[in-house]
Amino acid sequence: MGIVGSTIVKFLPLAPKFIVRWFAKRYFAGEDLNQALKAINKISSEGACFTIDVLGEEINSMDETEFFISEYEKVIELIVEHKLNSNISIKPSAFGLHLDFEIGLSNMVSVISKASDREIFVRLDMEDSSATQYTIDALTRLHDMGYNNVGIVFQGRLHRTMTDIQNVTEKLGNKCDIRICKGIYLEPENIAFTNHSKIVEETNSAIQLSIKNGAYVAIASHDDAVINFSLNEISKAGMGPGIEDPRPNSNPSRIGKGPGYEFQFLMGVRGDVRRKLSNEGHLTRVYLPYGARWYEYSMRRLRENPDVALHITKAVLFPWTNRR
Ligand code: FAD
Repeated sequence: MGIVGSTIVKFLPLAPKFIVRWFAKRYFAGEDLNQALKAINKISSEGACFTIDVLGEEINSMDETEFFISEYEKVIELIVEHKLNSNISIKPSAFGLHLDFEIGLSNMVSVISKASDREIFVRLDMEDSSATQYTIDALTRLHDMGYNNVGIVFQGRLHRTMTDIQNVTEKLGNKCDIRICKGIYLEPENIAFTNHSKIVEETNSAIQLSIKNGAYVAIASHDDAVINFSLNEISKAGMGPGIEDPRPNSNPSRIGKGPGYEFQFLMGVRGDVRRKLSNEGHLTRVYLPYGARWYEYSMRRLRENPDVALHITKAVLFPWTNRR
């Protein structure tokens, strides 16, 4: 990011919220479910399916979990009612897992069981490193309880990730469903890689190991280096568009999923790459966040945008280019 970009990023928090909202609108689907539905209907025509996320930051009391439980129940009803090609992503801390593991788990079960009844998959998003172990513990407990509609995320930047993938794939066998990303949280160097090329290398190794160990693999990166590596690994494993997952250690029948893998993109980021992969026949999924608490999430996306200066200038001069 150039000097103009970093200056814009520095001063963005001082801008009135309605201005940030306008620049950031490509990154979230609206403040309520109706707006989210409109965004889904629009992007569906591009061949993508979805994972819906209710926006919110970490909660401080168990009372706050009620909002997320009831909102996700509405999301599940919406998916069923409108026959949407979508699953859901949840943050364990929004259900109180960091406050009390057992209560948090039972809060999650109330949503996951409804999703399971309706054959909807649930992804446990991965938060910062303080959440890694309890998120893995929740995943394995949920599978022990028979909720095989649940998957997890591993972050290439963490030192522990390769061991975690090995352990979880051994434990869950062919029911294992993993999203691999670089990891958004900046972690200290005693537990994480901090060099960009090393993070890319480790993310690629995590994808390679997950494919080898028979997991369903969701590749969640906008980085050409990760996407191209993954395409090569997929092809080396005999997988690809229109081919039934040939891996003997995998499970070929997963409802609403691709043939052993899919590519995932955040809403508003590199739609051109997503559409190209989709046109080539790969299953692509858009991570679609919505909710009243859009500000922090959108600020993160604006900060991550290497072309933030160009993006904001274009959005002002040519508003029709500010699209998802
Ligand atoms: P980058 O190197 O950041 O980006 C590659 C290229 O993408 C950039 O050069 C640029 O061209 C483009 N780009 C990236 N960001 C933007 C932007 N905001 N606007 C415009 N262009 C952009 N992290 C977690 O820690 N836990 C999770 O559960 C999690 N879930 C995720 C789910 C999905 C579907 C995705 C795509 C990411 C998720 N992440 C999660 C975030 C991820 O860990 C990375 O922080 C993030 O995706 C950036 O890494 P990247 O691999 O896309 O590469």
